[in-house]
Amino acid sequence: MSKEKITNIIRILPDYIANQIAAGEVVQRPESVVKELVENSLDAGADSIAVVVKGAGKQLIHIIDNGSGMGKDDLALSIKRHATSKIFKQEDLESIRSYGFRGEALASIAAVAGLEIRSKQDENDVGWSLKSDPMKEALVEPCSTDNGTQIFVKNLFYNVPARRKFLRANLTEFRYISDTMIKFALSRPNIRFTFYDNDTLIFDVKPSSLEDRIANILGVEIRDSLVGVNLENEAIKIHGFTGTPNNAKRTRSNQYFFLNNRSILSKSLSHAVYSAYDTVLEKNQYPFFLLNLEIDPENIDINVHPQKHEVKFDDDRFVYNSVNTAVMSALQKGNFIPVLGLEEQASKMPFIRTDDDYDVLVNKTTGEIIGKHQENFQGGGSSFVSSAQTSFKRDDSDRGFAPREKSSFKAIFGSEEEEELFSKQKVERYDNFIQLHGSYIMLETEKGGMLINQHAAHVRILFERAIKSMKEGGRGSQELLYPINIKLNVGEIVVLNEINEELINLGFDIAINDDFAQLLAVPVDIKSGMEELLLRNMIAIVDNNSIVENFSMKEKLALAYSQKVAIENNKKLSNSEIKNLVTELFRCSQPYSTPTGKSTLIEFQLDDLKKRFNKNN
Ligand code: ADP
Ligand code: MG
Repeated sequence: MSKEKITNIIRILPDYIANQIAAGEVVQRPESVVKELVENSLDAGADSIAVVVKGAGKQLIHIIDNGSGMGKDDLALSIKRHATSKIFKQEDLESIRSYGFRGEALASIAAVAGLEIRSKQDENDVGWSLKSDPMKEALVEPCSTDNGTQIFVKNLFYNVPARRKFLRANLTEFRYISDTMIKFALSRPNIRFTFYDNDTLIFDVKPSSLEDRIANILGVEIRDSLVGVNLENEAIKIHGFTGTPNNAKRTRSNQYFFLNNRSILSKSLSHAVYSAYDTVLEKNQYPFFLLNLEIDPENIDINVHPQKHEVKFDDDRFVYNSVNTAVMSALQKGNFIPVLGLEEQASKMPFIRTDDDYDVLVNKTTGEIIGKHQENFQGGGSSFVSSAQTSFKRDDSDRGFAPREKSSFKAIFGSEEEEELFSKQKVERYDNFIQLHGSYIMLETEKGGMLINQHAAHVRILFERAIKSMKEGGRGSQELLYPINIKLNVGEIVVLNEINEELINLGFDIAINDDFAQLLAVPVDIKSGMEELLLRNMIAIVDNNSIVENFSMKEKLALAYSQKVAIENNKKLSNSEIKNLVTELFRCSQPYSTPTGKSTLIEFQLDDLKKRFNKNN
C-alpha cells in the first residue's frame, strides 16, 4: 500500500456554482432583478420601459424596452460574468455615468433563474433571442422581435431552494418591487414607465415635468404642498421639491434622494433637510422631499456595494451643507420659515469651505454623522461648535473661561420701542458683520443695523435646544475619559434622582450612589472643566424659587444649562462662528430675549442715526 495521501484538495469551482454564489450578492429578491434590468434598459437609452411581474416576480419578471438593443455576439456575451459594454479601462471606473458597470447582473440572474432575452438593433432586420437555464449552455438563435430588448426572468431561485424559501410573502415582495418602480418613475420623469402586476395596470406614466410626475405617482393632493428647490454651482446641482411644513407626515415615506439619477439613502442628508425646517416641524413630523443631486462622478464613489445604495462623497460636509442651504432658502422664499434676508448669504454658503477640523463630525466613509451634536451643522459653515469641538477633542486650552460679565452696554442707538419694531425680515445683509470688543455682533439691516449680545444670544439658542432635547431626547453626549466623582448631600442626591431622566435626554450619563454622583458622560456642548459646576447649578436651580418661579422643571434645567454653557462675552469668535450664532438665533422661536427676559439684540434705524448726528451739528 502506498503511504502517499491525496493532499490536493483545492479545486476551482465550476462556473455555474461560482455564478450562483456571486448571484447572492446581486440578486437577493425579485426586486433586485427588476432594479438591475430596468437600469440596463435605461443604460441602453430606452425612453419607454414596461415592467410586468407575475407572482410578485417569483414566477415571472418581464421587461420590455425600446433601447439600443444587442447584436448576436453581444447578446451571447451579455450573460457572461464581467461582460460589460460600459467600462473598458481603469480610468472609466473613476467617472461612471451609467447605472451598471460590473457586468454581473445578467450573469447572476442567469445563474438562478430561467432567462430569455430577445433583442434587436434598429439597423438590423433580424433580432436574436437567447435562452438560458442554470447549468445549461445558452442557446442563441434568430427571432422576430421589435427594436429594443425584452427580458423574461422565470421562476427565480428555482434551482436554489434555500434562497427561494427565504423570500417573503408575495405582498411584501411586490411592495419591494413597486417601491423600486416608483423611485425609477420619480427619478426619470422624461421616461415612460408602464408597470403591471399580473394583468393589473399599476401605473403608466408618460414623459412629463417632474411636478406632474410626482402628482401622477404620489397623488394629485401632493401638488399643493410642493416647494421648488433649486441650487446650482460648479460643484453641485440640487433640483427638486420639498414639502410645505403643514403637510409633513408622521412617517418618513415619500422622501427621495437621487444622486445622478440613482436612488440613494443617506441619513446625514435627510438630516440636512430636517434641520432646514428646524423648529417649524412638530416633533416626529417628516416632510416630503424629492431632491435630485448632480455631482461630477469623479467626486463620488459608488463602487461601494453591489446594491449601490451607499455613496461616498469626497466632501460629505459640502454636500450636507449644500442640501441644507438649498432646502432652507426654498422654504424661506416660500415664507415657510422665518426669513433673515439670508438668500444671498445662503446661496454662497456651500462654496465656503470652512475649517476642516470639523470634519470629525461626519464619517467620511459612509456620510453618516458621527458627532452627536448634529444641530451644529445647521446653517452650513463650520457651525457654532467651538465648545463642542473642545469637548470632543478633550482639548484643555479653552478651559479657563472668564466669569460671565453683566452687560454694561447701553442702548446708544435707538430706543426701547424700536426693539419692539424689529422684525426678522429686516436683517438684510447678513454677511456684513463685525464683532465689537469680543462681545457684540453688529450687522447691517434693511433700515439700519443691529447689535447682538453674543452671550445672551447663545443662552437663548442653548435654552431652546435643551428644551427640545429634553422633550425628544437624542442630544449627543460625550463620554468622559476619566469619570468625575462629585460629592453630594442627601438632598442633592434626591434632586438628582428626580432630574436624572431629563439629564439623560440632555446628554448626561450619571451613576448615582449614596453620597456621590459619578459623571460618565456629558452633553457635547460642554467645555471640559465645567462639568461639576454645571451639574451643581442644575441641581441647585430646581429648588430655586426666586427668579424662575413660573418656570417648569425642564425650563429651569434648560436655563441653568444654557447660562453656564453659553459662550462668554469677551471672546473672539471666528467668522463662521458668528454666522452660525446669528443664523441659529433667528431660528429660535423667541430670538429677541433670553429666557429671563434680557434683550439679546438691539436694533437701530438709519433715521435715528441721522437725528443724533444732526443734534450735534
Ligand atoms: P452591466 O450593466 O454592469 O454592464 P449587466 O450584466 O447588467 O452588466 O449587462 C451586461 C451587458 O449587457 C451590458 O453592459 C449591456 O451591454 C448589455 N445589456 C444588458 N441589458 C441590456 C438592454 N436592456 N439593452 C441593451 N443592452 C443590454
Ligand atoms: Mg446592469
